Amino acid sequence: MPQLAQRVGRAKPSAIMVIAETAKQLKAAGRDIISFSIGVPNFLPGEHVYAAAREALSHDSGQYGSNRGSDALLDAFLKHIQALGFTGYGRMNLSIGIGAKQVLYNLAEALLNEGDEICFAAPYWTTYRDIADIVGAQANVLHCGPSQHYKLTPEQLDGALARRPKVFLFNNPSNPTGMVYTREEIAALAEVLAKYPDTWIVTDDIYNSMVFDGLGYHNFVFARPELRERLIFVDSVSKTYGMPGWRVGLIAGPESVAKAVTTLNSNHITSVPEVITAAAVAAFSGPQEIPQAKCREFAGKRDIVVAALANIPGLVCPRPQGAFYAFPDISAAFGKSHNGARIENDVDFCAALLGAKGVACVPGSAFGEPRAMRISYTCPTAQLEPGLARIAEFFAELS
Ligand code: PLP
Repeated sequence: MPQLAQRVGRAKPSAIMVIAETAKQLKAAGRDIISFSIGVPNFLPGEHVYAAAREALSHDSGQYGSNRGSDALLDAFLKHIQALGFTGYGRMNLSIGIGAKQVLYNLAEALLNEGDEICFAAPYWTTYRDIADIVGAQANVLHCGPSQHYKLTPEQLDGALARRPKVFLFNNPSNPTGMVYTREEIAALAEVLAKYPDTWIVTDDIYNSMVFDGLGYHNFVFARPELRERLIFVDSVSKTYGMPGWRVGLIAGPESVAKAVTTLNSNHITSVPEVITAAAVAAFSGPQEIPQAKCREFAGKRDIVVAALANIPGLVCPRPQGAFYAFPDISAAFGKSHNGARIENDVDFCAALLGAKGVACVPGSAFGEPRAMRISYTCPTAQLEPGLARIAEFFAELS
């Protein structure tokens, strides 16, 4: 029997999908389930996006498109990133992919040789670990616990960069914690980055439209423009425009990197379909009221989540300021039992919570932080409060 390649053995099924699947099965069996598990936005793009897709369909050429992305899409993305604060970029600095996830894989292939080091903070988005494993890179994971609000400090970054990693991968706002770095925090990290010219910087900032409390979105290049020559900004239509299934991600970075990603595209995907491209152009260049309204809505939901969690004795939740996640420390429950079920760790906790109360959350170990769990609060408000009340009940019933 022939063997599968070793890299497949390094790829693990997503822990998020495992819990979401269990919740789905329980629901199908008639259980009343509230899901806080999957990080999908609960809204659809505006009608202008569908209109653009329909229009493109009516005269679709059916041909392969550009490996880099169509000029119309690149121009729309350039305007979009200019509004965020990125200046001086042209089409040759950009490239496309089938969602940010595929873009990140392309970047890993473009920047990392087998055995090279990539560093990133934990809690991290689960796929970072998998990307490192699949391309055979060494991951140096920098642990940032709840006491430091899950944020990387300049000292930690300095220590990690002193090892001369090939890539530093950064995510702001954060999935899974909802943390957002302030302008000052970004500037302090940018000072450290400036000291280490041999490290590529990848900023996966696909939640940049979902920043609360007037903090604003900040990037290292805003503080230190010279970092532009080795920084790659990753964006996507998934979260901002409620278009996760349309699968469009983009990068802005040095020409050499955009060219490498485009060459990989020519071998992996060829192009993004014309109809999808037209929809993405409409999303970037059309009215921005929906993302703005959603940002306000998620800030309101964040308040509900934070207030409910603050009333649960023993549970600690650093206040999220972006995206749509909260990441409470649940370790006070470890060593206790619920209805005879012993809870030793985050996986036991989430399994017992789902079994007893029908609330699905994702164990923090999936994100490199086994003391916590992730709550994704994109569900309707009518489910949010009862779901949080069930978590409180569960905690109160621990013995
Ligand atoms: N980066 C982060 C931090 C994410 O949370 C996700 C999706 O959950 C992605 C990238 C992937 O986004 P896309 O849907 O564009 O592939």
